[in-house]
Amino acid sequence: MPAAAATRDCEVLVIGAGPAGSACAQMLARAGLDVLLCDRHVFPRDKVCGDGLIPDAHQALACLGLADAVLARAACATRVECFAPRGGQVAVPAQLAVLPRRELDEMLRQAALAAGARWLAPLRFEALLHDADGRVAGARFREGESTRELRARWTVLATGADARALELAGVCERRAPSGMALRGYVRHPGMGAAIGGLQVVWHRALQGGYGWIFPAGGGRFNLGVGYLHRQGAEVPQHAPKLRQLLDAFAQVHEPARELMQGGAPAGEFKGAPLRCSLAGARFARPGLLVTGEAAGSTYLFTGEGIGKAMESGLAAAQVLTHGRRGSDEEVSATYQAALAALQPRFAAYELANRFNEHPWMVDFVTWRARRSPAVLARLAGVLDESQDPGRLASAQGLLRILLPMG
Ligand SMILES: Cc1cc2nc3c(=O)[nH]c(=O)nc-3n(C[C@H](O)[C@H](O)[C@H](O)COP(=O)(O)OP(=O)(O)OC[C@H]3O[C@@H](n4cnc5c(N)ncnc54)[C@H](O)[C@@H]3O)c2cc1C
Repeated sequence: MPAAAATRDCEVLVIGAGPAGSACAQMLARAGLDVLLCDRHVFPRDKVCGDGLIPDAHQALACLGLADAVLARAACATRVECFAPRGGQVAVPAQLAVLPRRELDEMLRQAALAAGARWLAPLRFEALLHDADGRVAGARFREGESTRELRARWTVLATGADARALELAGVCERRAPSGMALRGYVRHPGMGAAIGGLQVVWHRALQGGYGWIFPAGGGRFNLGVGYLHRQGAEVPQHAPKLRQLLDAFAQVHEPARELMQGGAPAGEFKGAPLRCSLAGARFARPGLLVTGEAAGSTYLFTGEGIGKAMESGLAAAQVLTHGRRGSDEEVSATYQAALAALQPRFAAYELANRFNEHPWMVDFVTWRARRSPAVLARLAGVLDESQDPGRLASAQGLLRILLPMG
């Protein structure tokens, strides 16, 4: 039997206040549900990230009523500058922004609270609670030296790329992350004019990985490197060392070298895992939905996931709002269908990630886009998601984007 309403602490318990959890909590609260949002950290807190907001994030922020407020504080940009291994460059136009996650996530959390969600922190998720029939009925947390139990009709797990929480919830299908990335902030006011767009760099020296420089405004830059494994591929025994990739990035990309040598680091470089391609975890159990990067909502190839984390959180909220009186099976099936609808977009990034294994393909794409405004427009359509995702999910579809008759 579901936890009796009288003994519940809330209708929906959302664990994790990153973009996925806060987006979900806000929408549930807006719909009038009694929501409790919690996190192991007191906010505002830092999150290791490139801080880049690509078009899907802008759309999700608009749904949350936060687009204007975020853009007012963010450093805005209008192009992704792609650097191919042989030195070719192409600028793909898009609506972009960079805002440190410490600020972005606090804005999202505050918006959830303003909508009526309640907040508890620091609470570290330790285990799920179950009813007599095995249905998830809330969660147990570590709160300082003691333990706290919170009972809910529904629990949403939005704990990000940390596999431990997935294991504790019994939904982990793959412990290893899809990849790792490292980032730091560097202050170098002299480079403000030189780096106008979000730079992404592919190069053989990066061993199948990539580097980025994202201008964060005020002469500050978010600079980092990452590598991602193809879904289903064996995680290499000797994965590249992120510090070595960072050194290699500074050697092969002049702006990165200038930032590293002439800039003032603001804090340490920090690494973190990524979980991609909507894989690696079960999305639902009776009484539980898994959302955001916990469900693998980050894109392979570029490691971007803020937008899709919010989108998946919004999908979970919508399913719970409309299905609150439905059966567990109905809620679970509707949620899985909502995530499946996003799958073609993830498949496209999965395909593109193979470019990292064959750097000549990045050279070819860059070369094509430089010569053909139509190809460039189609690449922009991939980025802003106006391209039909069905066309992107196969190698042929992707090729058609690059060829003149596409
Ligand atoms: C180096 C790096 C660079 C990246 N750059 C970009 C980028 O430029 N643009 C982009 O779009 N994406 C980027 N990403 C991906 C992006 O960070 C994630 O896709 C995004 O944070 C996922 O959001 P989320 O809400 O699912 O999880 P998170 O943002 O990770 O939030 C999860 C929350 O759950 C909490 N939590 C975890 N475990 C527990 C627990 N046991 N108990 C209670 N609370 C818990 C955490 O404290 C956290 O607040 C990058 C990732 C990395 C590692």
